[in-house]
Amino acid sequence: MDWEELAHGKGHWLLVAAALVGVWLAFGHTAHPPVLSNWGGDVVQQNMVPQPNALSALFSKQATQTTGLASDPHPQEMAWGNPLDSTRCVMTQGYGVGSHAPAAVWGAVDLAIDGNGGGQATPEGTFGAPVYATMSGVVKLAANTYPAGNHIWVSGEHFKTGYSHLKGFAVADGASVKRGQLIGYVGSTGESSGPHLDYQVWKDGANVNPLDYGALPK
Ligand SMILES: [Zn+2]
Repeated sequence: MDWEELAHGKGHWLLVAAALVGVWLAFGHTAHPPVLSNWGGDVVQQNMVPQPNALSALFSKQATQTTGLASDPHPQEMAWGNPLDSTRCVMTQGYGVGSHAPAAVWGAVDLAIDGNGGGQATPEGTFGAPVYATMSGVVKLAANTYPAGNHIWVSGEHFKTGYSHLKGFAVADGASVKRGQLIGYVGSTGESSGPHLDYQVWKDGANVNPLDYGALPK
């Protein structure tokens, strides 16, 4: 079959097929790597049952790199500090952008762990990482919600903090907690494209930027 046949005869479809295979070879068959900077997107993942035993290595790794959240001098009643209590915490989606817009409705920051020190969030370092209350308050649990997945509110008189997409809970509904107290584990439940913590801060009923309340470690 020569070029003329290919271009004008039945071979036309062979050309189309060959072109499609070419496109597939060039782009389609490459596995799409997780886009770390886009976590918080629209892929819904199955909820998972907490498996504390498998997380002990993460906990010990975390324990050597804490930010001192539990002993932070800010008043307990206000939200303050990094809820992952880790110097390796990185932000994967900022405040008021993407799925965090408009900020008045769902202002949050997405936080994850740089598990290998490479400067970027890693799913392995993030999944199952402990989540800590950033203020004293009363816990309200909500399991399997959408889009927040397994979600915790910690509420006080003026402040309220939200922790979304959790793998599991470490406190009971209605419990009183202090800043730095373990409340759950990072997961990817609800509307989430990978393990991360969606963290919100509300003050007197208004959504505020968690970065103004120490959400990222210095
Ligand atoms: Zn988010």
